[in-house]
Parts: sequence; structure tokens; C-alpha cells
Amino acid sequence: MKKIIVVSDLRDVGLEILKLENQVNYCPEITREDLLAQICDYDALIGRSVCPIDKEIIKKGVKLKAIGVPAVGVNHIDVDYAQSQNIKIFNVPGVNSDSVAEFTIGHMVNLCRHIGKATFDTKKKIWDKNFYFGREIANKNLGIIGLGRIGSRVARIANAMKMNVYATDPYIDLDKFKEVNAEKLTLEELLAVSDIITMHVPLTQETNNMISKLQINLMRQGAYLLNLCRGEVLDEEAVADALDSGHLAAVAADVIIGEPRPGGKLIASRLLQTENFMVTPHIGAWTMEAQDRAASMVAEAIIEALK
Ligand code: NAD
Repeated sequence: MKKIIVVSDLRDVGLEILKLENQVNYCPEITREDLLAQICDYDALIGRSVCPIDKEIIKKGVKLKAIGVPAVGVNHIDVDYAQSQNIKIFNVPGVNSDSVAEFTIGHMVNLCRHIGKATFDTKKKIWDKNFYFGREIANKNLGIIGLGRIGSRVARIANAMKMNVYATDPYIDLDKFKEVNAEKLTLEELLAVSDIITMHVPLTQETNNMISKLQINLMRQGAYLLNLCRGEVLDEEAVADALDSGHLAAVAADVIIGEPRPGGKLIASRLLQTENFMVTPHIGAWTMEAQDRAASMVAEAIIEALK
């Protein structure tokens, strides 16, 4: 019987598949120290970005044959080192695109119409529409950075909302832009033309800090910015400066630098204290449908790899 350790949450449907033929240790709260001490016993590991799988952990995992991620991003894993040790890595691209795209649109509407803040204030018995003067979304220019699975789904919904859709993505064919009725632009052109900008790139060396002071200076006065991919793609200090100065009207993020495990405390940052910064705790893909699909797909991939 093979041994599998699951170091972050996984829906029951995935755990049941794994348990059919394997011994499973489900320990979503495990500390790094405990994982380092135990990993030598396991043939496979499943975990999300809250649990970094670096060289030290992989080195100690002398029996590891597969690492599964019930999500899209694999930036928390030392992929090159794992592959050099013949460890296969499985993620589940596409399973959460609808969920994240829908949530992106939700954040966008919230930025333009203040739904969250208005609800919060109204429940405190303040009834005053003057604080929530909004912006219409129809006919605005939407700039999508990264026209992959999530970005292109956002584009399709934005088309239906009568937005003018622009996108930048140096790694895909022009056909992909045409399929979703998005005009292809360079990053610089997109930043200059967009009223609302939304980020859907993987975290890589190239995308790390890809929106910094220089890029913000190219954006329109009063532009809106959304980050639904990874915190590190934004220079958070530069974004906080732009919110304070009013250059950016508002920013929404579902991800942030230094995310703790669920239930943990965020490190204090200036961005968190900034007035027009809306933030959610990495819940873009956090729907029953997406999580069930992710759990069963990653479990099946791991079982296949261990055969
Ligand atoms: P994807 O691989 O389908 O799409 C990413 C796109 O980004 C690709 O088309 C790629 O060519 C493009 N890209 C890469 N580097 C770029 C650059 N420098 N400039 C412009 N485009 C670039 O991935 P996806 O499924 O659309 O997911 C995108 C990212 O969203 C993931 O890597 C993950 O980090 C994040 N994500 C977040 C959540 C959440 O809960 N908030 C959920 C799923 C995924």
C-alpha cells in the first residue's frame, strides 16, 4: 500500500478516491518542521500554495514520486528540483476558471458600485447614498493581463457586459484574442488605454512585480486595478502610493504577499490599511463545484502516477 500525505485542505470526494488503494495522512494543519520530519515515509504529497514545497522538503522526501496541487498555481513548488529527482507534478488547470472569472467580475462590480462598503455601513444603520456614487461598467475599457483560461473567460463575460476588451499575453496566438473578441496590445499600450485592469498571469520571474511604479504611471488617472492571480505580481508599496494619491481609484485583490494558512493572521501591510483597497482571502476558486472537481482530478492523477 502506498502512503500519501495531504498537507492542505482537500474535499472529501478526493480523499475517498485516494483512500481506496492507499494509506492517507490528512493533515492540513501540519507545520513545516513536522512535514520535514515525516516526508521521508511518503510516496506522494498533495498540497496548495499555503504550504511551500521547497528543495529541503523534496530532498527529505526520498520516496516521493508525485506531488499534486488541487489548484492551478505551482509557484510554491521547486518544480525544477522536483523534476530533476523524477518526481511528477500534477496541477488541475481549468477546473476553477469559471469560479475565478465570475469572482473577478464580482470584484469589478464591487469596485465600481461599492456593494461591500455600502452593505457594511448600512448594517451599522447609516443610510446615505452620497458615499457610494458609482461608475457604470458598460462601454468601459477592460485590460486583461494574461489571456489564459481565466483571463479569456473574463473576456467573454466582459463582452456580454458591453465592455471594450483589450488583452496582453505574449505567449498565445492571435486567434485566441480573436476567439474572445479581445484586441491584442502590448502591456504598455494596455495600461494606457484601460479604465479597469485585471491580472491573470502565473507567478514567474517575469511576472514578479510586473506592476510597479513605472507601470502605474502609465495607467489612466482614476483607473481600477484587480489582482486575482498572485500577490507578488504587484509592487504593493507602489499600489498603496497610487491609492493614496488618487491616481488609482480603487484596487481589488484576492491574493496578497505573505498569505498565511487559513485561520492565520496576515502580516500588517500598508495596502491593507488603504481606504480604497478591497481584499478577499484567496477565495476566487473557493466554490463547491471547483473544489470537488479539483480534488477528484488531483486524486486520480496521483493514483495513476503511483501505479
Ligand atoms: P493559464 O496558464 O491558463 O493562463 C495564464 C496566462 O498568462 C497564459 O496564457 C500565459 O501565456 C500568460 N502569461 C504568462 N506570462 C505572461 C506575461 N508576462 N504577460 C502576459 N501574459 C502572460 O492560467 P489560469 O488558469 O488562467 O490561471 C492564471 C493564474 O491565476 C494562475 O497561475 C494562478 O496563479 C492564479 N489563480 C488564482 C486563483 C484564485 O483563487 N485567486 C485561482 C486559480 C488561479
